[in-house]
Amino acid sequence: MSGGDELHPNAARGGRTPAHRAAGPRRGGPGEREACALRAGAVRPDPREPSDDLPRLGLGESANPDINANGNPHYWFDVKYAKVYVERIRDALVTADPAHSAGYRSRATSYLADLDRLDAEIRAKVTQIPPARRKLVTSHDAFPYYAAAYGLSVVGFTQPEEGKEPSPAELADLVELVKKEQVPAIFSEAQVSPRLAETLAREAGVKTIVTDLPTDSVGAPPADSYLGMMRVVTDKIVQALR
Ligand SMILES: [Zn+2]
Repeated sequence: MSGGDELHPNAARGGRTPAHRAAGPRRGGPGEREACALRAGAVRPDPREPSDDLPRLGLGESANPDINANGNPHYWFDVKYAKVYVERIRDALVTADPAHSAGYRSRATSYLADLDRLDAEIRAKVTQIPPARRKLVTSHDAFPYYAAAYGLSVVGFTQPEEGKEPSPAELADLVELVKKEQVPAIFSEAQVSPRLAETLAREAGVKTIVTDLPTDSVGAPPADSYLGMMRVVTDKIVQALR
């Protein structure tokens, strides 16, 4: 990566990795942290297995007091955390390749400014949703940081454990909760079958279903970069809830 032309904290390209599916981790457990970190913390934006001689930038182990070291791995959904990724990547590249440090620093500074603009843009868009409708039901527990940062609440998810079907009792509980909270829309992730979301929406009387919400990886344009993915996610949420 000489010259650092690809200094972006993007999730790795492509769909979900086999590790993400195979891990079957408990929500927020170490397995999920590791699976999602394959994308979130990768220095190289490609799906190759990281080799042991590359530095690992585990955001969950960050010394930054804002980072919840024991929590849910979906840090990138709060732009404030994405900025920490960029700073850590910048610092690691400067250490690994000091001859190009000026370039790494200037591109990181520019990208951090892009992230500040993105953050302001998301905040402005979310204000288009009436406060009582700022409620998320998604496929898995990917949005706690997004919700906390941008003023929404997470009502629930159709997969209480990522990659697993809910029990009939869990689904029935979620149907009741969605009715009680008058959730305006059900979101299903782009790489997940929409069947559960459709069942939930039908049983809870929710008319709006979004079946292509990007979550754990970048996707087709315009969601093919971190900035693009965050804009697509926000636009889909705002359009469905407002
Ligand atoms: Zn995930």
